Amino acid sequence: MKKLLYINIDGFSYSYYERLKKEGKSQIFDKLAGDGTFFHNLSSGLVSITNPMQSAILCGAYSNKTHNFYQHFDKKSLQIVKHKRTFDAENVADVFLKSNKTVCSLHQFMLEDNPCKEGVEGNTYIKSPLAHSNFKDRFKILKDIVQGKYVISGEKKMSFKEFPDFMAVYFDDIDSLGHNNDYGDVPKRHNFEDRQKDIIDCLVEFQQELDEFINICKSTGLYDDLIILITTDHGMTPFFGKSKLSDVLDLINKSGIKADSAFDFDDESQIIALPYTIELSLYFIKPMTSSQRERLISLLESKDYVDRVFVKEEMEKNYGLDERGPDMLISPTYGNHFYKKDCEENYFGASHDSFHETSQHIFGLVFGNVNHKGQIYTDKVNVIELLPSILKNYFNLTLKDSIVQPIEI
Ligand SMILES: [Zn+2]
Repeated sequence: MKKLLYINIDGFSYSYYERLKKEGKSQIFDKLAGDGTFFHNLSSGLVSITNPMQSAILCGAYSNKTHNFYQHFDKKSLQIVKHKRTFDAENVADVFLKSNKTVCSLHQFMLEDNPCKEGVEGNTYIKSPLAHSNFKDRFKILKDIVQGKYVISGEKKMSFKEFPDFMAVYFDDIDSLGHNNDYGDVPKRHNFEDRQKDIIDCLVEFQQELDEFINICKSTGLYDDLIILITTDHGMTPFFGKSKLSDVLDLINKSGIKADSAFDFDDESQIIALPYTIELSLYFIKPMTSSQRERLISLLESKDYVDRVFVKEEMEKNYGLDERGPDMLISPTYGNHFYKKDCEENYFGASHDSFHETSQHIFGLVFGNVNHKGQIYTDKVNVIELLPSILKNYFNLTLKDSIVQPIEI
């Protein structure tokens, strides 16, 4: 009986893999790729933020189905609405359960109580008892599960007689490092290059843990049944210095349209600007004529710090964006940002709500008991295509809300 292990390494930009490769440190990923399919041109989605993309991957659809695109400015209540863990579509764990298979999530939080629950056999949610568990702690739990040792789920001690039919594991180390946070004993860095080194070191150790885990799976015989997907939700893009938020607001206001930030607006405001970290969403709360819209687009595009201006129709049509989404979305050029505050002096910031390649182009690999060995996809594949394709090809299961045409994996 085939089983599926889905590993998500949050924030694994393909640019990190390229650097690993260049430094001769990608051997384990490359070895595993030989036993399956490696995606050289895998894409995140719009918006490339954690919870929206984590849920999109698990159901094969975007925010017009999940209703999660992180946040929006509600035009009626004039408030910012955060979507938190909203996940309105059928996910992989739901489908496995429905067909009487067992499921388990280790730290994949979008499946917590949806449907996986602490202390429930056959549909289990597991968190490390440590307050800040890292990839080593979580691999330890995963190895214990494979070896039938006791693990803690909620208040309960449990052991797995058989590995779950679907197991999801989530790691956030690479994302935390990528954001240039203090992480374990690694301090926040002043410069981007130092942080890249931290990330590479972590990915080297991660590969060693992964290799040990695979060897355990081989020794117990589990590997013969296992299909393993390793992918991520988005990449990571650095940004520096002063925010361009006030520049954009000045620019629009000078053109005769009253634009204000979502944190400070009044009855006269026509456009509300809602930043996340890098990108900026614009909500038209007073009617705008099409010529006003066109002028606004050319005005924004005339600025050297603006990379892309997306309009609502395009975002709904090409990126499955929820209808409550912004009227326009501005993605800045590499290094620029629309964050609500400037970068701290002598530090850089980094995030992933960007249309730059470093955020959009991501890591993805499927291997194990699969039909295609040493296959490389150089064509563009969207990350939401992976799980629905594996489910269709190997389990004959369909996700109700998925918009994906299954591909050969
Ligand atoms: Zn993330």
